[in-house]
Amino acid sequence: MKPTAAVVIIGAGVIGCSSAYHLAQNGISDVTVIEMEQVGAGTSSKSASMLSLQFGRDPLLARMAQYSYGRYMQFEQELGARIDFRKTGWISVASGEAAAHLREHAIGLQALGIATELLSPAEIKYRYPEIRSDDLEVGIFGPDDGPFDPHMIMWGYIKQATTRGVSLQQGVKARGLRTENGRVTGVETSEGFIATPVVVNAAGPWAAEVGRWAGVEIPLTNKTRTIVMTGPVPEIPPGRPFLEDENVEWYFRPETGGGLMGMGNTPAKSPEAALDTVMVNRIIDHAMYRIPALERAALKTSWSGVRPLTVDGRPILGAAPSLEGFLLNCGWGGMGIIQAPVAGQLLSELVRDGHTSTFDGAELNLARF
Ligand SMILES: Cc1cc2nc3c(=O)[nH]c(=O)nc-3n(C[C@H](O)[C@H](O)[C@H](O)COP(=O)(O)OP(=O)(O)OC[C@H]3O[C@@H](n4cnc5c(N)ncnc54)[C@H](O)[C@@H]3O)c2cc1C
Repeated sequence: MKPTAAVVIIGAGVIGCSSAYHLAQNGISDVTVIEMEQVGAGTSSKSASMLSLQFGRDPLLARMAQYSYGRYMQFEQELGARIDFRKTGWISVASGEAAAHLREHAIGLQALGIATELLSPAEIKYRYPEIRSDDLEVGIFGPDDGPFDPHMIMWGYIKQATTRGVSLQQGVKARGLRTENGRVTGVETSEGFIATPVVVNAAGPWAAEVGRWAGVEIPLTNKTRTIVMTGPVPEIPPGRPFLEDENVEWYFRPETGGGLMGMGNTPAKSPEAALDTVMVNRIIDHAMYRIPALERAALKTSWSGVRPLTVDGRPILGAAPSLEGFLLNCGWGGMGIIQAPVAGQLLSELVRDGHTSTFDGAELNLARF
């Protein structure tokens, strides 16, 4: 491992990998990425693997998702790596209070030019005959969303970054930050010290802990979400959209050889979530209610992952005001894979120019809290 670097990135999840790639693409390749396990070992390998334009719940996040979506559509051309995207669409359904929110959300997305259709219960049934819809008031359908492969994305980014000179150090743990006169001077790691004027905190659910090393409070709340994979469900065609039941925040999508379901917002006891077995049962119960055919599906495997969330739902991207050279790229919650292109792009602008230009960084920085 080199003893110096222009930039050290802590964490090789999707955000760290994208940051490394975009820095190198912008001419800053004296970068060392340190990852205590291996690429994607954190929450990036626990996701539902969805690319979505329907997900952004405020105009800024929706516009950032539009930007990232555009970049993903060029990913193979730009990076020479596939992402295995399948445009199957996204349906959210709701009743009661959640239905009012969903209608408002659809109007907001439409105003931004994002293709979103409001669905009546009959239209929901038409688009998704296998679901129980008699208790639903409204649905929205976004035709452009679908699953893709986060591992291919991470490896696509990091491979291009290393080809351009970035150093990837897997199995190396950051243990502390060295500072002098209010600025960063380096990172203490399990393999020795790296002197650097710029440290990027891309440690996902561990980001608050990394901030505390330097006395920087990062207001993140880690919450656990659980995924259950089923065996084959012959009654559900593989091209059916991702289905989200807004009433209980439960979702399902067909997956190769079976189905994937997710749910849960439980406070996480640690950044490495243990399987939430109570949630597994709740997911299965709701599955049988919303899609009766799932009663006949076998349970294949399940896991829990951690979503690092902020109170306003926006990520934290920018310089820590109290410590020069300490940059934050964390708090991406439930959308880090969707937003990885913009996350890396903005970070690279920040390092290169001292400010972001693709989007206004002031709306994302730590000082807003
Ligand atoms: C169940 C579930 C479903 C989800 N579904 C989706 C989805 O469909 N679409 C979507 O866009 N997002 C989804 N998300 C959210 C998404 O997974 C995250 O927003 C994203 O992975 C965050 O990436 P990250 O790089 O910030 O964090 P991570 O992937 O956790 O990366 C941080 C890395 O830092 C490393 N690290 C931490 N501390 C240190 C240290 N001291 N030294 C060295 N290395 C360190 C960790 O090992 C880890 O690899 C989901 C999340 C969950 C839990």
